[in-house]
Amino acid sequence: MFIQINHLNKQYLDKNGQPTEVLKDINLEIDKGEFVSILGPSGCGKSTLLSIVAGLTGLTSGEVLVDGRQVRKPGKDRDRGMVFQQAALFPWLNVRDNVTFPLKKEMSKKEARAQAAKYLHMVQLGNYQDHYPHELSGGMQQRVAIARALSMNPEILLMDEPFGALDEQTRSRLHHQLETIWMETKKTVLFVTHSISESIKLSDRIIVMGTRPGTILADIKVDLPRPRDAHKEDMVKIEEHIMSYLKKEIDKVISEELAYEHNS
Ligand code: ADP
Ligand code: MG
Repeated sequence: MFIQINHLNKQYLDKNGQPTEVLKDINLEIDKGEFVSILGPSGCGKSTLLSIVAGLTGLTSGEVLVDGRQVRKPGKDRDRGMVFQQAALFPWLNVRDNVTFPLKKEMSKKEARAQAAKYLHMVQLGNYQDHYPHELSGGMQQRVAIARALSMNPEILLMDEPFGALDEQTRSRLHHQLETIWMETKKTVLFVTHSISESIKLSDRIIVMGTRPGTILADIKVDLPRPRDAHKEDMVKIEEHIMSYLKKEIDKVISEELAYEHNS
């Protein structure tokens, strides 16, 4: 088992200093090379979970193991690369320097440039290395961010709604590219999304989360050949299956909100 999450709990203090439970008894095992989506409504704790696996956020109790070792601060382990919804590129650096920036501490300048070029070619931006972020579309910026994360050669790629801000066509192209990169590099991918169709298109497994507190409702295997677009009918079946879990969640949230309004 490559990633192992055991009885993970996470509380945050609310504005009155009261602890609120964000993640409750999360248990999850992920194999090396798996593409796993974490799917759930806004606020269910997806980003918190990913951030704990990245070592960016601490946990309240339980444990997260990667390759048998407890996760530590991200600076110490080079085994996890993060991609966020916003590319977060340095606007004053060109594409090449954005990618080599985190590499410089690890290797010579020449090696860093070679590494950057390799992954920029992989995301089909080999000809844009001298461009600046403002000269690129949102989809291209996101591809630079993916190249930057890959260039550290992490074992795990952690992606938090990386295509959430993009239009449908760009998103669809990037799905295809990410799938290709995943098959080429054999990375383990943990992919956060609130899009059901995106999760079905990309993943081997979909972890469906419910909210308040964040829990795992279902762990659904997607056993369809890739590319998935040729299997629309099977995709619809899986979508309906996922919806059956999420509908209950939506009903729960609505009734809680009604009760809250009623009591206040
Ligand atoms: P998601 O990514 O699924 O939308 P998040 O993980 O961002 O959910 O947030 C889950 C819950 O935790 C939300 O209710 C959010 O308000 C709360 N939360 C997230 N970060 C913090 C924080 N730093 N301090 C307090 N509460 C937080
Ligand atoms: Mg989030």
